[in-house]
Amino acid sequence: MIDDEKQSIQECTHEGCDQKGEFKAPLSPKLLHQYQWFCLKHIQEFNKSWDFYQGWSQKEIEIDTKEKYTWRRPSWKINQEKTSPFDETFIRKKLENFYSSDFFLENFGTYTKHDSESIPFNLLNKDEKAAFEFFKLAPTKNFKQIQKTFKQLAKKYHPDHNQGSKKAEATFKKINQNYVVLKKILAKL
Ligand SMILES: [Zn+2]
Repeated sequence: MIDDEKQSIQECTHEGCDQKGEFKAPLSPKLLHQYQWFCLKHIQEFNKSWDFYQGWSQKEIEIDTKEKYTWRRPSWKINQEKTSPFDETFIRKKLENFYSSDFFLENFGTYTKHDSESIPFNLLNKDEKAAFEFFKLAPTKNFKQIQKTFKQLAKKYHPDHNQGSKKAEATFKKINQNYVVLKKILAKL
C-alpha cells in the first residue's frame, strides 16, 4: 500500500493475489488521498462495494476508475467506443448525483464552486500537491478558503488547547508548514 502516484506498478493489495496492482483506489471515502492498488479483478470487487457504483457494468467501472480521483471529470469520449454499450444518460445522472452529494461538496467543494479558481494539478510539484491534500482541499487560488481551513485546523491543534500533547504539537507544526507552502504557491501564480 503506497500513496505515490509515480510508483504505479505494485502488487495487488488483495490478500493472496500476486497480480500487478494497476488500478488505484482510495483507502476509504474519508481517506481519498491514501491509495491502495488492485488488479482489474479486485478493483472491480472493490468498486462493487462502493454505493456509488451500484448498478454499473464492469466496463463502466473500469473506465471510471481510471479517471476518478485525478481532479478531472471523466472524459466523455469513452462513449464512442464501439465495443462498450454505454448509456450516457444513465452515467450522467449518476455523476450529477455524485457531484451534488454532500460527500463530494465536502471534499471537493472548492473545485466545483469556484472552477475558475482551481489550479491545474500538473502545475504543482509533489510538495505542493501534498500541501493541498494535507488540508483536504482541491488545488485552489481561493486564499480565503485556504485561510479558513488553516485557521480551523490551527485552532483545533494549537498546543494551548491540547494539554501539551506531543502529537497535537507535531500536527500543529505540519499545519503551519503546509500553510507556508500554499501561500508560496499563491504568491507565484
Ligand atoms: Zn488482485
